[in-house]
Formats: sequence, structure tokens, C-alpha cells
Amino acid sequence: MLYKIPKSFINELLSNTNIVDIISSKIKTIKRGKNYYSICPFHNEKTPSFSISFEKQFYYCFGCHVHGNAIDFLINYEKMNFLESIKELSSLNGMKIPNSKIINKKYYKKKKLYDTLKKISLIYKNNIYKKKNKNVTKYLKTRKINKKSIETFSIGYSNNLKIIKNYYIKKNKKFIKNLIKSGILYKNTNNTIYNRFVERIMFPIKNLKGEINGFGGRTIFNKVPKYLNSPETIIFKKKENLYGLFETYKNNRKPIKKLLIVEGYFDVITLFQNKIKYAISILGTSINEKIIKKLFNITNTIICCYDGDDAGKKASWKTLKISLAYIEDNKILKFIFLPKGEDPDSIIKKEGHKKFLLRIKNAIPMSKFLFTKLLKNNKLSNPEEKTKFSIQVKNIIEKIPGKIIKFFLKKNLIKKLGISKVKNIKLQNKKKKKKKI
Ligand SMILES: [Zn+2]
Repeated sequence: MLYKIPKSFINELLSNTNIVDIISSKIKTIKRGKNYYSICPFHNEKTPSFSISFEKQFYYCFGCHVHGNAIDFLINYEKMNFLESIKELSSLNGMKIPNSKIINKKYYKKKKLYDTLKKISLIYKNNIYKKKNKNVTKYLKTRKINKKSIETFSIGYSNNLKIIKNYYIKKNKKFIKNLIKSGILYKNTNNTIYNRFVERIMFPIKNLKGEINGFGGRTIFNKVPKYLNSPETIIFKKKENLYGLFETYKNNRKPIKKLLIVEGYFDVITLFQNKIKYAISILGTSINEKIIKKLFNITNTIICCYDGDDAGKKASWKTLKISLAYIEDNKILKFIFLPKGEDPDSIIKKEGHKKFLLRIKNAIPMSKFLFTKLLKNNKLSNPEEKTKFSIQVKNIIEKIPGKIIKFFLKKNLIKKLGISKVKNIKLQNKKKKKKKI
């Protein structure tokens, strides 16, 4: 749906808004002369080059040249979409968006579900501490999840109610309706309403603003499946939603220096508990381009840290392949390969924070993983093997947009093939020819 907000309204909104207040409420600013300054939230720096002009109602970074008005700031910093930023500024100014009924129809539909999930999340959270649910606290204890983490990640518990009883449905008609829409409950063909999550630890999956999109539920009684996620809804997209993204975003200075991609909920939480507060989980779905694009939008360095098993290795290779199209020269992709049978949750419990930091520090860069993997079953001992290898590397290099990294990968390829001299002669010939022309 396309929203048309009158330009006059946007102008009025901006003239009522003070960009200095908006930005100062989110990051620390200092006044110097006419303007305000701060450490740029869009690139890494030590001295403030991010300036905000009250006169022009504009921000500009002398380091990375980002610039814009209050709306642009909310879009880029809070990752809001255009409509959301207009809504935020309107509500701050007590202004009503014209034709808001039409404009906001879709938004309100989503908002209802966000509110519903927030409500149910609180119910789940309260369940944890109920006496009859002792098994839950016991289970969380065996996983070494502390109270602070339960709070930070709003962990909860869904009770043993399988079928929603009629009197309850009558009493809470709207709530039940929205619970069905958001996938918490489902209606069977016989019109009975069932609880999707029964006796499961509930992990709310939040968007960047902290709104709950859906849940992941882990059985505490070894039922199948071990993990169950919310179904696709208008607010929950399995291929896009990430666990831990909100908590990471909230607990790190912007721009976020690096992100760890892990597989599980407990990986994210245990790492967080051990002061690694920048891990996100891909919710059991396989990694895809949308996720990589989203993450490279937030950070310049992605480190994959999948489980130490064959599936984890395969996921690493898949991540490499689908990330290629996003490897600009300022983007870095690295890999941590854990010992067999370990995952981030188990290894950091065994080794502790410091040793895990070492693993991060020593993560293998994409280029190294690439060559090691392709040369694993290829000794380059004859022209055919060399050709095969060259084609494989060439196909990969072609997909990368970063020119400098491309250059060095090519150089690496030539070195591995042991043909540096031939290539040099070729390059020289080209240059000479050009000069002649
Ligand atoms: Zn900047």
C-alpha cells in the first residue's frame, strides 16, 4: 500500500520539531558555538565530527558525510520506516496526520498484534515464578540462565493448557481473536481453539524497536519438536526476524562494531550473560540474503559462530556464498569454527569470557576460509585441477562488489596457482600497449 502524506504536513511537522532535542534524547551531544556536536552514531570515531545545526534543522557528519533532517535521523538511527518516523514526530508534537485512518490501517493492524504479544509475554513471564512451575526454574538453572537474563530477554513460560475453554473465549473475545491472528493460538477444523505453545520456555523475538514479533518455544519435557516458532503472520517473518537483535542494538554503541551470528536462543543468552552482548540467532531457519543484508546495514563486521558439527560447517559455507554480493570493501565476514560437539553456549560456559574473546579475535577471514575449503580436495597437481580451482574462485570473485578485496583475492589466486610471473608479463604487456596508443 502506498501512503501519501501531504508535503505541507511534513513541512509543518519539521518546522515544529527541534532536531537538537530529538538527537540529544538519543545520543550525548555538546554545544560548541552555534552548533551541537557528538560522536557520530553512523561510523566509528573517537573525536566528535557529527554536527547538528539548530538553525538549519539538519545534521551532518564531517567524517562519513551522513546528513539529513529529523525524519532521516529516525529512519537511519532508529531503523524506522518513513511512516513510523512521521508518526513518532507527530505524536511528539501532538499533531494529527491527515487522512490518518487510511494511512494507518496497516499500521494499526500490526499494532494490535504487537500489543497482544506484549500482553501474552507478560503472562508468560509471570508464569516462570509461579510455584506450580518449579520445573521451569529448575530447567533454567541447569542451563545456567540467571535472573538478569530472564529480565533482559523477557523469558517466559507457556503453561499446560492445551485447549482454550469456552467461558474464557467468551470473556476475552478480542484478545483471543488477536492471539489467533498472531499465531499463539490456532483454530482446528472442528472450531476448537488450541494453544500452540504448551509447556514451553518462551523466548520473545523482538524487532529493533523492542516490539515482539513472535516467539520461540523450547519444550522442557523433551517433547517433539524441541523448538517451536511462531508461524508466519503479518508481523512475524521467519526469514527476516532475528533473535537478540533488539538486545544487541540496545546494549551497544552505534554503529555496532561487530555481530556474531549463532544458531540458538541459549547461545545468544549465555554469550550475553558472559559479556558478549552482540550475538544474534537465526531462529533455526537457514541463513539467507535478507538477513545478511539487514546485518550489514547495522554493522561492518559479521562473524559466524555456528555449532561445531557438519550442519554448522555447511551453514558457514552457505553464509559465505550468499554474503558475497554484500562484501563491499568496508565489510568483513569472518568465521569461528568450534570444536566438535560444542556450541557457543557450551563452549563459553567451559572456557569463559576471555577465551571466547580470543576465538573472536582469531576468527578466520572469509578469504582464508574460501581458499582452504576449495583446496581441501584439490592438490592443484595438474592443469585440470588448476583450471577447476581457477573457475571456482573466479565465479566467487565475480560476485563481490568490493574492488580492493577483489584485487587481493585475485592476487591470492595467482599466488596459489604459482603463476605470478606469467601474470606479471601479461600485465606489463597491457600497460605497454596502452602507452603506445
Ligand atoms: Zn559519521
